[in-house]
Amino acid sequence: MSRKHRLLCTVFPVALLVLPFFVGAIPVESPSNEDPEAENPVSRFRKYLSINTAHPNPDYSVAVSFLRSLAESLPLHTRVFEFVPNKPVLLLIWEGSDPSLPSVLLNSHMDSVPAEPSKWTFDPFSAVRTSDGKIFARGAQDDKCIGIQYIEAIRNLWKKGFTPLRTLIVSYVPDEEIGGLDGVTKFVASKEFEELNVGFMLDEGQASTTDEFRVFYSDRTPWDLIIKAQGAPGHGSKMYDNSAMENLIKSMEIISKFRETQFDKVKAGVAVYSEVISVNPVYMKAGTPSPSVSFSGATYVFSICFMPTKKMRYEL
Ligand SMILES: [Zn+2]
Repeated sequence: MSRKHRLLCTVFPVALLVLPFFVGAIPVESPSNEDPEAENPVSRFRKYLSINTAHPNPDYSVAVSFLRSLAESLPLHTRVFEFVPNKPVLLLIWEGSDPSLPSVLLNSHMDSVPAEPSKWTFDPFSAVRTSDGKIFARGAQDDKCIGIQYIEAIRNLWKKGFTPLRTLIVSYVPDEEIGGLDGVTKFVASKEFEELNVGFMLDEGQASTTDEFRVFYSDRTPWDLIIKAQGAPGHGSKMYDNSAMENLIKSMEIISKFRETQFDKVKAGVAVYSEVISVNPVYMKAGTPSPSVSFSGATYVFSICFMPTKKMRYEL
């Protein structure tokens, strides 16, 4: 059996588990008829969104309490690990009829990237739903929709009398957006994870506006490239060779050219994002408030994502 077929065979049962929620469970609500107090998948989703788990101060304890409260009405038992204080890993576990079989793990992360409220149409944690059905909230797509969909899919299946053959575990991890070192990294290295006997897992993916979902079997590797340029300081009224900014600009030009070669492939339609190395400048620290002073140090950070190939050699 080819790798692709193996993957499809493994994915299919999980797709069956998840898809009923998308196909049948989301009520098509007329916003004018919607009771704002009613409990339904969308209202539960919005409650999850209203919990501020954005960096740099994610409130994991409230998120864990909320998710545990959802599990209470379902045939799930919960476990919480804190491999690092205040960085909880929550598990919701649906015991299978044959727990000796390898389990299925569905993962999502509780945290989200920061939000700048002044740049938003609505407060990013008010989870406003507009009359056309759109929901505005930080973390809606990445990754709270996945976390709620898992629970709602379980709710749907349980109501229909379904019991899984394999034990199903839904995990909620912290700190994914900042590397996951205190969350999933410690979790998968723990004896508790080993005891779960995971045979297959799904992590977050792309949001979809239809009932079709793409499944990926690998992910790109993030890499932060930090350039620290140095050079002689001096008065801004003169020009110097080898200043910190001049050195930094040279590096930036080389990296920007490489970025263009990758982006051009996407723009030309000869490659998709997962087939190129993405490069984005994300942070810069340089200079002094005084324009008359040439400074001696500058830092620039590029966020780079490598595509999933085993052997790569790229020269900038
Ligand atoms: Zn994510």
